[in-house]
Formats: sequence, structure tokens, C-alpha cells
Amino acid sequence: MIDDERPVLDNHLHLDPDNHRGIDAVRDFVRVDGTHMLVVNKPSWHLGVEADAGEDFRPVFERTLEIVADASAELPGRAWPVLGVHPGLISRLVDERGYAPEEAREIMRGGIDVAAEYVESGEALALKSGRPHYAVDDDVWSASNAVMRRAFERGADLDCAVQLHAEGGEDLTEVTEWAEEAGLPAHRVVKHYAGGRLEGPIPSVIGEKDELERAAERGEPFLMETDYIDDPDRPGAVLGPKTVPRRVAWLLENGYDDAVRNAHVETPKRVYGIDTESTLERA
Ligand SMILES: [Zn+2]
Repeated sequence: MIDDERPVLDNHLHLDPDNHRGIDAVRDFVRVDGTHMLVVNKPSWHLGVEADAGEDFRPVFERTLEIVADASAELPGRAWPVLGVHPGLISRLVDERGYAPEEAREIMRGGIDVAAEYVESGEALALKSGRPHYAVDDDVWSASNAVMRRAFERGADLDCAVQLHAEGGEDLTEVTEWAEEAGLPAHRVVKHYAGGRLEGPIPSVIGEKDELERAAERGEPFLMETDYIDDPDRPGAVLGPKTVPRRVAWLLENGYDDAVRNAHVETPKRVYGIDTESTLERA
């Protein structure tokens, strides 16, 4: 059981009320004492958007803002949107749609720029970028890195965090060095779908017990997430929306109170500037 005053944040999930569970997934999260969530827009092509320019991402972002408002209405805390371009899009643009890597780079940079407009206006909290987690050709790799660096530049301009989708491993200091060169401090870079130990970005640790224990024992800033994808075609592919609250309860049972506070209060404040305590009003 989680006490009433305790914020429980899922740092990265997707909601798709048009195709799958949507707000029902939020209700499941609340039922097990979840309070706050960062909702990341689904990959554009999952919503039927075949982008040829940055502006084409706008309907994807607009729909995400509506979903976040609906989610906030259900939560004892609130939801915030994280907007950006999924790095896997580059393969779709180059391999399936015939764009050169440099052209794909410009389309994706354009999407980052549009996402940044929503951060600037205060409608979105943070940006999402990254690079493929699978092996790609050198020109696709350098185009992907250029997109990610654009996100760092925009993050620096706007003083906002950048969530990354990137390859596995425990050292991404190369990437946070690029962020710092662009003016974005390393602690504003978050690696989504991370293990419990990571050098460079703040790890957003996937809700598996062994990785969470590793992060808790390490004592460095971390976040917790499910990467719930709310996709009817892949129902068992990822963790469900109840996972973060259940893992919080499990961490508390095992005496990791400080780690829970780290992941749900202190690190969200440090990375995003959000206050998960003052925004929590349980009935
Ligand atoms: Zn995701």
C-alpha cells in the first residue's frame, strides 16, 4: 500500500484512445495509486502520419495534448506531454519511402523544431529524440546524431529536458558531452528504457525488479517508466500501466524509501523542474 501523500510518476508511456485503451489505462494506473505521468507522443506513422516535413507532426502533437488533458482529469496528480520524433522514423523514411539520409534528417529536425514550439508556449514539458537502437549505415547514423543534436540545441534554448531513445549499454557520456557542448546540462538528458546503471544521461529505468534494485542501490538520480505502448497489435509486448505503482509498493516493502523519493520527487524536480508533491491532491 502506498500512502496518500506519495507521488508515483511513470516517466514514459504512450496513450492511444483512438485505437486501444487510452484513458482506461490511466484509470488502471490510478487504481493502484499512480499519480503522475509523462505521456510521449506515439511514433507519427503509428497514427497514420507519413511525414514529409516538420509541420506534418503538428496533428500528432495536438492529439497528444488533448490526450494529456483527458489523462490529467483522471489523475490525483497530473500528466505532462513530452513531444518529439521517434528515431526509428529515419529507417522508415530512408528504407521504405526513398528519402536520402540528409533529407530524412531535415524532416526530423523540422519535427523537433515544431515540438520545441509547444515547449516554448508552455503546452509541452520536454522534447523527445535519440538515435536508432539497432545497427544502421554510417550516413543514417550521422543523420540521426544530427537530429539528436538539434534536440539538444532546442532544449538548451528553452531550458527543457530531452528524453532519448537510444542503444543499450551503460555509458552514453559521448551523448551528454554533445548536449553540454550545445548548452544543455547533462542532468537534463534522460535515457528512456534504461537499465539501473548508466553513465551520462539520467536513467529512466524500465520497471523490472533487478534493474530497479540496481538503481536504488546506486543512489544516483533515476526515474521509473513502463514504456506502455497502448497498442492493440502488441498487447503483451511491454509492461502494463499498473507496473510503476506496483514496483513502488515493492521498493517500499523492501526498505527503499529514499530511492522512491529520489525517482518520484527529487529527480523529476531536478530534470524537468516539476513538483510532484504540490501537484498531488488525493481524494
Ligand atoms: Zn516509448
